[in-house]
Amino acid sequence: MNKPSIYGLTLDQMGAWFEEQGQKRSRATHVWEGLYRKRVTDFADMTEVNKDALKLLKDHYAIETLTEHTRQESADGTIKFLFRLADGNLIETVMMQHKFGLSVCVTTQVGCNIGCSFCASGLLKKSRDLTAGEIVEQIMKVQLHLDQRGKGERVSHIVVMGIGEPFDNYEHMSNFIRIVKDHKGLAIGGRHITVSTSGLAGKIKEFADSDLNVNLAVSLHAPNNELRTRIMKINKAIPIEKLMEAIEYYWDKTNKRITIEYILLQGVNDQPEHALELAELLKDRRNLAIVNLIPYNPVDEHSQYQRSEKDSITAFYDVLKKQNISVSVRLEHGTDIDAACGQLRSKQIRKDQDGSLEKVLS
Ligand code: SAH
Ligand code: SF4
Repeated sequence: MNKPSIYGLTLDQMGAWFEEQGQKRSRATHVWEGLYRKRVTDFADMTEVNKDALKLLKDHYAIETLTEHTRQESADGTIKFLFRLADGNLIETVMMQHKFGLSVCVTTQVGCNIGCSFCASGLLKKSRDLTAGEIVEQIMKVQLHLDQRGKGERVSHIVVMGIGEPFDNYEHMSNFIRIVKDHKGLAIGGRHITVSTSGLAGKIKEFADSDLNVNLAVSLHAPNNELRTRIMKINKAIPIEKLMEAIEYYWDKTNKRITIEYILLQGVNDQPEHALELAELLKDRRNLAIVNLIPYNPVDEHSQYQRSEKDSITAFYDVLKKQNISVSVRLEHGTDIDAACGQLRSKQIRKDQDGSLEKVLS
């Protein structure tokens, strides 16, 4: 059995664990300092932690469960990491540079069961959930890479938009958020963290009732049930009405605006009439929703979908603006390096199957 990642324990959980082992609770604070301030990658370097406590840690936990498999760097500073988990599975993590800071997009599951028709991540069914530790470790790997660059850079923002449906891995995702927010650790502010969901309405409500206090993004991608069901089969079980009700609940509870994600697929959902229908859907929810238009990143296996033309994107944007809907267009990062989450992984898996890296990465 592989040892679990030490990054998966909240400070409280680690303190309680030390107590169970007959150690002082305060050892946890020292370990956290070693992990998140000194950022050691070997337990032996936690010189401030007492020897017995260190031995216990080493016997029960691993400090490194992810190994870098491949790294692609884009001209715009985006870096895409492909990591191998201890059980051999591959996942992706993307770092993006913005004017406002450095953000990391994390993966929450190996594969995804939601199976949206346009997405590379859903090509393979979920084989397992990631643990909180494996999600935190993705951030740490990027932070350690930044430390090596020696420019004092720091991961300032997190988007939970990598492979997987975070609300289908709710407990681990929640613990991950608690750990990265903690002031004694990475101290990434809740306003700088966004979780994206395909629309699991029940979980959106649970999220609203929780203490997590981070931003929510919802993948809508279509303005009516007929079209949404066609491109996202989850809409059959959770139609737009249910989703809107959950969003309103979230707004009532948190007073936080929700980002409505809308991928533009050429000729499918990107016409002016779709924009008008979307405006109609959101017109009584103007105060709570911000639409984020996402240019589609083509996926080889989903050749039925193409990215919308620039003119269609502009026209769509203009219709929403005219209807007084808050709207922005997502800036693209690393389109030269398969930056849509799931793409590098799916290419690597195909490569592993037919053994020709050159062919798939060219
Ligand atoms: N499962 C969650 C979070 C991960 S996907 C969700 O679906 O919201 C994060 C976002 O990327 C979603 O809005 C998703 O629809 C979008 N996405 C998936 N494939 C894409 C692609 N090829 N190009 C652009 N965006 C994509
Ligand atoms: Fe899963 Fe999100 Fe991809 Fe849909 S878009 S298959 S929910 S990762």
